[in-house]
Amino acid sequence: NLTQKLEEVFKSLKGKGKISEDDLKQALRQVRLALIEADVNLGVVKDFINRIKEKAIGEEVYGSLNPVQTVIKIVKDELTELLGGVQSGITISSKPPTVIMLVGLQGAGKTTTAGKLAVYLRKKGKHPMLVAADVYRPAAIKQLQVVGKQIDIPVFANETPGANPVDIARDAIAASTSMLKDVVIIDTAGRLAIDETLMTELVNIKQSVRPHEILLVVDAMIGQDAVQTAQTFNERLGIDGVVMTKLDGDAKGGAALSIKSVTGRPIKFMGTSEKMDGLEEFRPEGMASRILDLGDLGALIDRTKELVNEEEAKELAIKMQRNEFTLDDFLKQMNQVRKMGKFQDLIGLIPGMGKIKDQLKDIDLDSKEIRRIEAIIQSMTSKEKANPKILNGSRRKRIAMGSGTRVQDVNRLIKQFEEAQKMMKKMGSMRKGKKGMLPKL
Ligand code: GDP
Ligand code: MG
Repeated sequence: NLTQKLEEVFKSLKGKGKISEDDLKQALRQVRLALIEADVNLGVVKDFINRIKEKAIGEEVYGSLNPVQTVIKIVKDELTELLGGVQSGITISSKPPTVIMLVGLQGAGKTTTAGKLAVYLRKKGKHPMLVAADVYRPAAIKQLQVVGKQIDIPVFANETPGANPVDIARDAIAASTSMLKDVVIIDTAGRLAIDETLMTELVNIKQSVRPHEILLVVDAMIGQDAVQTAQTFNERLGIDGVVMTKLDGDAKGGAALSIKSVTGRPIKFMGTSEKMDGLEEFRPEGMASRILDLGDLGALIDRTKELVNEEEAKELAIKMQRNEFTLDDFLKQMNQVRKMGKFQDLIGLIPGMGKIKDQLKDIDLDSKEIRRIEAIIQSMTSKEKANPKILNGSRRKRIAMGSGTRVQDVNRLIKQFEEAQKMMKKMGSMRKGKKGMLPKL
């Protein structure tokens, strides 16, 4: 983790007011390694490091930020700016239908993203339809139809052998008015590698239907190769933006930075699961944290916010800072987490928690488990809830009996709670320390 590595570098610096050139050189070496590890293109890394160097030399170690935090702040701000500064969604045409064309290599996630985009736009009050313009594999049409059925969105297709994708796209747009659809999402064919036939076909579709948005779908897992792909698609076709998929996997997403630097086109969306709700608007700051392995507290807070009201969130933040997190809060949180999605996904968003994420893979938060935990917690006194350490063997036994569970269950819960408490303490002190770096609740 970059924070730890920088801490190592700056160990000797304590007390000095400024970052010297030598300290900086060593720190930037770590930044460079982090970027390369995250699959950022070498040329892009070099440019980036040079820009940081200019900004950081002689930088005051300001306010309450220590040198590590200062360097991280500079690096992260710069990275955020390079990744997009402001985020940009889909441009909706004033004259319907808005036509969106998805392009990309085979397996990148075009068909899945087509469905996700339809769901996303429907939530925004639009009426999308899908178009099957990948006609070479019969399974491809079928796949889009399955997606459409699953999300209840109409799919325009022509299953006649030899049907031409250009005609299909044009017919679909003509049909959109009578179908009362105002957004047409075209799912196109892909190949394993870029080839001339594919490019020509995509150019023909583009010229025929004049899409408002051509979105390139790239798989984050292909890492460095994404740059070449993006460059070629952009040169041949002209893309308006990028959807980066499979960011729920291990890919650090450094390709996002390379793509943005090389093509100048914004990353607009991120695919974060195979499911139809797994599409998020791209957040440059979150991606910068991810690339630098800083965790993504912003995303966690966003997701928490969806379910916790502002008051509760503030209350929790205060508790975190004062270290007053109790088992009641723990239970509340578990219930929220269960509503929000998989626990380990959320944990992964917390800075420095990447490792713990793997260890937590087995925690299965089904409602039965939650009810069991609830029963255990309700059998405790409020003193015990605030500090379960005081529970001795006989109390644990009593609680297990009272809640219809086993002593092992009680012990396990207490251990999990202590982990959570440690985590809260860490987050609480970070919120105090890194002023200006972390989003406010
Ligand atoms: P296409 O060939 O470009 O149309 O790609 P598909 O939409 O068929 O996707 C290829 C595979 O990637 C499928 O198994 C999808 O479920 C999977 N996939 C697509 N997007 C994501 C994502 O964001 N996360 C994950 N985990 N899998 C994805
Ligand atoms: Mg497909």
